[in-house]
Amino acid sequence: MTEPKVLTDLTLTDPILTEHRSRAAEVLGQTLVAESLSAHANGRPVRPGGRLLEVSDPASGDVIAHIPTLESYDVPDVVQHAAASFGRHAGQPQLGWLMAAAEAVERNVDTFAAVMTLESGKTEREARGEVGYAVSFLRWFAARASDPAGAHYRLMTTGQDCTVRFVGVGPVLIVTPWNFPLAMITRKVAAAWAAGCPVICKPAEATPLTALLFAQVCREASVPEAAFQVAVADDPGPLVASFLADRRIRKVSFTGSTRVGQIIARAAADHMQRVSLELGGNAAFVVCADADMDVATKAMSVAKFRNAGQTCIAANRFLVHRSRREEFVAALRSTADRQVVGSGFDRLTTLGPLISASQRQRAQELVDEARMAGADVYGKCEELPGSFMSPLVVTNVSPDSGLWQEEIFAPVATVATFDTDEEAISLANDTPYGLANYVMTSSLARRHAYVNQLASGMIGVNTGAISDAGAPFGGVGLSGYGREGGGEGLREYQECRYVAEATACS
Ligand code: ADP
Repeated sequence: MTEPKVLTDLTLTDPILTEHRSRAAEVLGQTLVAESLSAHANGRPVRPGGRLLEVSDPASGDVIAHIPTLESYDVPDVVQHAAASFGRHAGQPQLGWLMAAAEAVERNVDTFAAVMTLESGKTEREARGEVGYAVSFLRWFAARASDPAGAHYRLMTTGQDCTVRFVGVGPVLIVTPWNFPLAMITRKVAAAWAAGCPVICKPAEATPLTALLFAQVCREASVPEAAFQVAVADDPGPLVASFLADRRIRKVSFTGSTRVGQIIARAAADHMQRVSLELGGNAAFVVCADADMDVATKAMSVAKFRNAGQTCIAANRFLVHRSRREEFVAALRSTADRQVVGSGFDRLTTLGPLISASQRQRAQELVDEARMAGADVYGKCEELPGSFMSPLVVTNVSPDSGLWQEEIFAPVATVATFDTDEEAISLANDTPYGLANYVMTSSLARRHAYVNQLASGMIGVNTGAISDAGAPFGGVGLSGYGREGGGEGLREYQECRYVAEATACS
């Protein structure tokens, strides 16, 4: 059996990185991603001398593509294109777009997985999983697109007939993150198309290739170009502001930081554009006295180490009943020990690089601060090069520390103990965020107590996997508002219109 490779002594000449580079070159060469997508960026000819966004591979730091950016003066054309498409389709559900895109993405799973690994660093296995998850939104909403979308009844006081309809809001702007470069696009696009709304996508600067690849495969599958346009930016603030200054944009859906969510919500106020914000979280993972430890360990492994800890619903704070502390910390340590840090292209790797060296440095600083304040840190703390980070388990953390208060977005598991359920609930809720929480318990009464009192949009009971196309994903407090997925997700892209009609007897 081959020994797992751990990149503890990675240097830039390390064989794994060399291997990574050659696989990366192969991906770029085989798919011609950089070249062909750059040439067609935003579906329009490249302006000579225009600005370029530099895209890097987080594993090696190598520049992998230069993408022409959209400028604010391009915005009216792009919006016009979307508005004309919306006018033509009158906000009708676009089953054809959904089905065609789902099939096209599935056909190109290898290319998507390779490109996503290359630009986001995630492992190819996780990238493939993400492609399946991304397609599930297109398929779920395709099934939903033909559902009856309203009601008909007689009004009591006037006796008139009342018809309630749900109609597409109009052209939509989506601003998406780098941690799930495809699924965070299709999660929004699928609901928008089911409501008949064309989409303009402003992808994260780190991962524009996946968005451009999605646009390309959709076009090849005969989805109209106006259904999904990509607006690449190297300075997103002014470009997003220009889109929101155009009153033909009727909705903005954003996934990212609370700081940027607040900027977007303010900008959308002028034209009263509908807003959905899926922002940061600070999820507690509560291990109760009666937790099944096998169940808790499996759930923890998903909730903490998926995507190298870079998910907004990642378990950020482990709260463990004092009687189970040793057992659970041992399980955490052995799960951390089993992680293999390396290139996302290496089959043995379970943790790819973080998205950037600065993100790794920020996480390391939070750990160092906690250590200086008395916390104990378990794991390989020596610095790996670039964006690579070994998993760490941190115990005896003060609730005042940055590590406890902030979303860490790295494979760092922070543990504190509690004595009573009331204390655990109060600690879990002691945050302005409210995206997700997890509770591990074998008791029905405890389950009820936690589900009733934890202040978050989502709660995982004895599971660490809570994302599903059919479920309404979203948070409360500084984690934002609006839901994605499920019937609730569809309504975010629809206006309610009621028609009162005089009847013969009224
Ligand atoms: P992160 O820090 O995880 O990258 P951000 O909230 O900065 O999260 O980024 C999420 C998305 O928001 C990206 O698509 C990014 O380009 C975009 N973005 C960043 N700054 C702004 C801004 N000032 N206005 C609008 N969008 C922005």
